[in-house]
Amino acid sequence: MSLIVQKFGGTSVATPERMFHVARRVARTRRAGHQVVVVVSAPGDTTDELIARARQITERPSPRELDMLLAVGEQISIALLAMALQEEGERATSLTGWQVRILTEPVHTKARILDVERGRLLDELSRGRIPVVAGFQGVTASGELTTLGRGGSDTTAVALAAALGADVCEIYTDVPGVFTADPRLVPNARKLPYLTYDEMLEMASSGAVVVQTRAAEYAKLHRVRLHVRSTFEDTEGTIIGEEPMEPVRSVNAVTHDLDVCKITVQDLPDVPGVAHRLFGVLAEAHVNVDMIVQTASRGGRADISFTVSRGDARAAVEGAERVARELGATKVESEEGVAKVSVVGAGMVSNPGVAAAMFGALAAEQINIQMISTSEIKISCVIDAASVPRAVRALHRAFNLEEE
Ligand code: ADP
Ligand code: ASP
Ligand code: MG
Repeated sequence: MSLIVQKFGGTSVATPERMFHVARRVARTRRAGHQVVVVVSAPGDTTDELIARARQITERPSPRELDMLLAVGEQISIALLAMALQEEGERATSLTGWQVRILTEPVHTKARILDVERGRLLDELSRGRIPVVAGFQGVTASGELTTLGRGGSDTTAVALAAALGADVCEIYTDVPGVFTADPRLVPNARKLPYLTYDEMLEMASSGAVVVQTRAAEYAKLHRVRLHVRSTFEDTEGTIIGEEPMEPVRSVNAVTHDLDVCKITVQDLPDVPGVAHRLFGVLAEAHVNVDMIVQTASRGGRADISFTVSRGDARAAVEGAERVARELGATKVESEEGVAKVSVVGAGMVSNPGVAAAMFGALAAEQINIQMISTSEIKISCVIDAASVPRAVRALHRAFNLEEE
């Protein structure tokens, strides 16, 4: 008998028919003799709709109240799925994040999970009931409700799997696994049978939303084996774990991220301590900075450009403007029509020339590169957003990713 955590995303529970389909999938695992803990996301576009409703009241909702609102979405799913499981003859109990006690840091709208209490879950399991847990939500030590950032139900599932020592955490979604590129953009993208934690982490952080970045991080830290697979087809998906099983290629996947805003602070004094001040202020505001570029000094002044997600843009501009005034910079500019394309692969470390091949493929498409960043296993370029589909397809071709 294994203990399996099964997480179902929003599209998988969007209609009553799909809810029953999921219930039957869970029941099948139970009847095969396994213990199952289920995690679900809000149905369909519920989270987006709730955000839109908040915006009808105010452009700047209080983060605490936004969390209170968004947590509703997942509660719809747990109650309905528990009912569907009961209709299928299973015993099931829906549980919110605070009933389980998924403890998070005291940060609204993007809290990190600190700890998961096992007591209630083990109690339900020992009584032969299937716990159906709300993804994306937690509670602080002082009892405040928090949410985990978009896509956060993946992280809930991984955290439960880690706390319970589950044999596997299955992420059921609307695609059959993790592909060499977003299959919606590249029709001949190939399903990857296996990825290392680091590859998944780099793919997620560069825009492959199929697994939330923090879920990949948490899985790596706690060595939770992930299986990303289809809710609708009964096929093997992608296993994410320790060691690569395939011979490593230099590039395994191409990712893209449209959720990018580029901010430039012009004419900052080129003296020690300036970057520290600017990024210190942004860190205090919980702004996650991705790429950073500083221009060469001219007349003792330099520009610093950096990218953040669009949700953080307002806080980032406000912080940057404060520092700009303080240090006598001339202007803060923010630009939304940009995006990031990346190539990812563990084999990159030992293969020189990947960057040149990437830049060559973009040049052949007449696509201008605005910023570049590299890690051991990823190269990212900021380009204009309208060129993303062309860029991703060109890179997919250039690295022969459609071939086995
Ligand atoms: P869920 O609601 O199940 O959590 P998400 O929308 O968060 O689903 O993630 C699944 C989506 O991720 C897919 O529909 C697909 O468009 C997108 N995606 C982006 N990059 C990739 C990739 N490399 N492989 C698979 N899916 C990807
Ligand atoms: N419902 C949340 C979202 O839309 C969490 C999730 O789907 O994982 O981001
Ligand atoms: Mg998701």
